[in-house]
Formats: sequence, structure tokens, C-alpha cells
Amino acid sequence: MKCIILIAAPAAGKGTISKYIEDKYNYKHISTGDLLREEVRNNTDIGKEIKPLLEKGSLVGDNIIEEVLLKELSKTNSNIILDGYPRTLNQAKKLDELLIKANVELSNVINIDIDKEIAIERITNRLVCDNCKSVYNKKLIKENICTKCGGNLSSRNDDNKETFLDRYDTFLKETKPLINYYDDKLVTIYNNSSLDNIFKDVDGILKGDA
Ligand SMILES: [Zn+2]
Repeated sequence: MKCIILIAAPAAGKGTISKYIEDKYNYKHISTGDLLREEVRNNTDIGKEIKPLLEKGSLVGDNIIEEVLLKELSKTNSNIILDGYPRTLNQAKKLDELLIKANVELSNVINIDIDKEIAIERITNRLVCDNCKSVYNKKLIKENICTKCGGNLSSRNDDNKETFLDRYDTFLKETKPLINYYDDKLVTIYNNSSLDNIFKDVDGILKGDA
């Protein structure tokens, strides 16, 4: 089993790029954000504990994230992309241990860079399909229906400028050090232009997996 880590500022396009790798290269997309939201939806003990944090857009404690991630890794047999984790140096070190335990090889770290103003524009206009998680831009669609599966499109509670700026500061403080930590495995791609260009960059990184 291989593992790809995506490092990115909020709204840099992690979700879209994960989906591309998942569909084209058969990786399983594991988003710790989605795992946490699922705990809330299923009203588990963890879900009850973290619901108020998610509603405020606050970050959830490491021990809880590790617990849901380990649970997910133990049921997975395919190559995986990790989205939203690790966010800090401590989490990265912990992840090294988790991956060894789960017999997973860290094959690539992809750093997705984006201009801050472009990120704000995108996040305040973002709609996500409730069903297949495809991402849309409010300004570019006529009705709130997914063209891929017919699902309903909605904006996430935490997609607003204030929450974004908080998260962006946190990203600069805590996540950027990961770029040094993963130096030997890291490739940076820029998400300021068209998706086609981004996908070409991803293909270049993963060409051995096609
Ligand atoms: Zn859909």
C-alpha cells in the first residue's frame, strides 16, 4: 500500500485534486474532515464531542483525529491519498508511526500552492455536491444541481471569509513547517491557473502509477 499526502492552504483545491487522483489512479481518498463529519452524522460518542467544534470551524484534537484515521486505515486495502492530515509537525511525526504500523509506504507529498486572494474568491463561491462531493463555483452554474450525479449542491458551514482567514493563519504557522519536514519527498504545484494544467502536473508526479 502506498500513501500520498496533500499539503495545501484552505481552498487550494485539495478536494478536486484528490478526486482526480482517486478516479484516474485508483487511490482511495481519505479526508480526515469527512471522517469527522461522518462521526457527527452517525451521532457516535466522538461525533457528539466534536460537533460544537466543527460548527465553529475550530480544529479537533490530535488524539481524536488519530483514532478515526487508524480505524479507517485498518479497513483499507488500496493505495490512499490523505487529505487534511497531517496539519502540524507533531501530526506528521505521529503519522510516520501510524503508517509503519499499518504497513503503508509514504510515496509522495504534494504541496498545492495558491494565491491568497484567489483562495478567498474560491471559498466564498464554493458549492459541494451532497452526494458525490464534486466541487462547483456558484458563479459558474445556473442551478444548484450536480451535473455528474443529480445530487443537491450546498455550501459548507465553514466556507466563509472569516473562517478562511483564521485557517489561513493557522496554516502559515503550523502547516508550512511540513514543507521542510518532507523535503526529500515533496513536489510543489501551483493552483492559480486552469485545472487542466494542475492535472498535467499531477500526471507528471504519478506517471509511474498509471
Ligand atoms: Zn454529485
